[in-house]
Amino acid sequence: MSWDREINLKNPAEIAIMREAGRINATVHATVRELLKPGISTADLDAAAEEVLKKYGAVSPFKGYGNPPFPNSITTSINNELVHGIPSPARKLKEGDIISIDCGTFFEGYVADSAFTAGVGEISAKAQKLLDVTEQALYQGIAQMRIGKRTGDISAAIQQYVESHGFYVTREYTGHGVGHTMHEGPQVPNYGKPATGIPLRAGMVIALEPMVLVGTHRTKVAADRWTVVSADGSLTAHFEHSVAVTEGEPLLLTVL
Ligand code: MG
Ligand code: MG
Repeated sequence: MSWDREINLKNPAEIAIMREAGRINATVHATVRELLKPGISTADLDAAAEEVLKKYGAVSPFKGYGNPPFPNSITTSINNELVHGIPSPARKLKEGDIISIDCGTFFEGYVADSAFTAGVGEISAKAQKLLDVTEQALYQGIAQMRIGKRTGDISAAIQQYVESHGFYVTREYTGHGVGHTMHEGPQVPNYGKPATGIPLRAGMVIALEPMVLVGTHRTKVAADRWTVVSADGSLTAHFEHSVAVTEGEPLLLTVL
């Protein structure tokens, strides 16, 4: 899988705006995370997210994206749903569920994109391990985001970490450059070989997003044409940050 979208290097002023967009996105996450209790609907979570975006004069780049146009500001993906779940008033959280929340923020001409998975009440040991491994895989990838490394180093770090814990990475959905639009170059898959791909340069901003499945790397798209589920019904998780390559340490944009 490959694409030829342009890689747009960002100057420090642009990175500063993206940092603000990222802070808003992290605020949405913190707000939604507080609401993850049995009985709340995924539409309620979406409404809460929209309220935060509105407060900061931001909108979600998810709304109206794609074909059919995505109807909401966040995606809510429960248990076997890997990504792109559509919020609904009929879909209520239950004790023991795990839910992935993906949110984008479009602010002053730039996009921030990040996601997390969390448990609802008490979750199984297996589900907790999945969450821990997926989140750590994201940080393994971020640690590679330095000058001198290439996109394949990021991909390989994520894949090796996940597979060393007995889980699977998706083949169909990938990390990506982010900036004026949600999806720019370079594409960064969650699998790959070290020392291959595009050399990293200061000013690249990449949304890294390990999507991890317990039982298979295979996925299917549901009848709503958006929700991506594991092909075997097994649990899935998703963590994402938008991160800038600098002359030094990688800079996380989507944190408070
Ligand atoms: Mg995302
Ligand atoms: Mg993304």
